[in-house]
Amino acid sequence: MRFRALLLLSLFLYAVAARAQTPSSAKRAAVAAVERQRAQLVSMSDEIWRLAETALREDRSAKVLADYAEQQGFTVQRGVADMPSAFIASYGSGRPVIAILGEYDALPGISQKASPMKEALQEGGAGHGCGHNLFGAASLGAAVAIKQLIADGRLKGTVRFYGTPAEEAIGGKIYMIREGLFKDVDLALVWHPSDQTYADNEGFQSNIQFFVEFQGRTAHAAGDPWNGRSAADAIEAFTHGVNLLREHVRPTVRLHYTVQRAGDVPNVVPDYARILTWVRDSRRDGVDTVFARVKEIAQGAALIAGVGHTITVQTGYTDEVILEKGIKAVHDNLTWLGAPSYTEEELTFARALQQATGKAVVGMDAAARPLQPITADPPGGSSDVGDVSWVVPTVHFYVATAPKGIPWHAWPVVASSGMSIGHKGMMVAANALAATATDFFENVAMRESVRSEWATKTKGMTYRWYVPDGQPPVPKK
Ligand SMILES: [Zn+2]
Repeated sequence: MRFRALLLLSLFLYAVAARAQTPSSAKRAAVAAVERQRAQLVSMSDEIWRLAETALREDRSAKVLADYAEQQGFTVQRGVADMPSAFIASYGSGRPVIAILGEYDALPGISQKASPMKEALQEGGAGHGCGHNLFGAASLGAAVAIKQLIADGRLKGTVRFYGTPAEEAIGGKIYMIREGLFKDVDLALVWHPSDQTYADNEGFQSNIQFFVEFQGRTAHAAGDPWNGRSAADAIEAFTHGVNLLREHVRPTVRLHYTVQRAGDVPNVVPDYARILTWVRDSRRDGVDTVFARVKEIAQGAALIAGVGHTITVQTGYTDEVILEKGIKAVHDNLTWLGAPSYTEEELTFARALQQATGKAVVGMDAAARPLQPITADPPGGSSDVGDVSWVVPTVHFYVATAPKGIPWHAWPVVASSGMSIGHKGMMVAANALAATATDFFENVAMRESVRSEWATKTKGMTYRWYVPDGQPPVPKK
């Protein structure tokens, strides 16, 4: 009898465990609805890849996605938060409101063909060196899948796709936050292309991006240099000061700059110079501390050169609130979905990119990494997704869309984002977004546990954006 009772008990426990791991029929339906869109998602992603529009110029890329959302029955608000390339596509009604975020901006100067050899598609043009063409298409594909389940009465609530421009510069999401566009969202889901697949336990660095301008007095550089006050001298003093400071900041701090103007010819004392500087650290308060020092260095540099100076903040991104329960949910789905299989041709392509860039020739590494504990400090890099995570509980993950180890924000990522390796990653991402969104719609306890973890982690903190007052800096056409 005792044996029989034990057997029954273990069968019961096994059934409970199996049920916990078995995806619901709605989740399977969501993934099937993503798969049915494969052709459209590939075509939209390729079109955005060819357009390769940079921050706040991505009007045609936004239109590709917004038009598709409209065709699929979403209500689309275009040009939100005073940015022509920002839009929100919404379907359904009532709570919960689950947001899926998408990006589609490219990076200047890294145009590249979908080829494993460095060769520009358009000389001097922009390229998708961060895979945002895949990012936008996958996220919208997931939102459309959820929409179909809501339409069929299988899920209840609202799904929203946020078309968020200018991640690589400016930070479109921050202007959308400023406009209050995330106010009623219960949870936000977002992915990012990568060379590996994992739920994001690392987060992003906070940063601030600002211009320092020096105003001097011009003179003939040989005739009467004593009458001149060189703005370029101030740049030299400033960068020297920043480089001395480097030794006296925490190891997590990153300082970088690019001199944008410092005169044109040596025989004219330049009366104007401009440098764009970024300060990063793991957390916002670390950035503020170093920024205060850098402002003093700018003042000192102006004194040394006898010139005037101004500091203008362009934007700044905040670190990310990582939610253990959220990344667990997405990790389970990434594991359930599994990695794509690659053809010999794709693996040859991957290895050629690794060879061309001096990386270990290991091909693809697309299996979901084991779930890791939340790290104290993020690796180098920032995103305006961090800002969203302070106003809405946000779950973020990475999917391999490129060969392991290849340089990011560079031509090899443009190449793999425009061919089948990128497309396969995009489909995994769309499926993982749709599956996790389904969990959040269906499982109230899971949704509430993520929200309560977020409430605890943000308690007593006030989010404030770094972007200046006034309109977003949309370039004139
Ligand atoms: Zn990116």
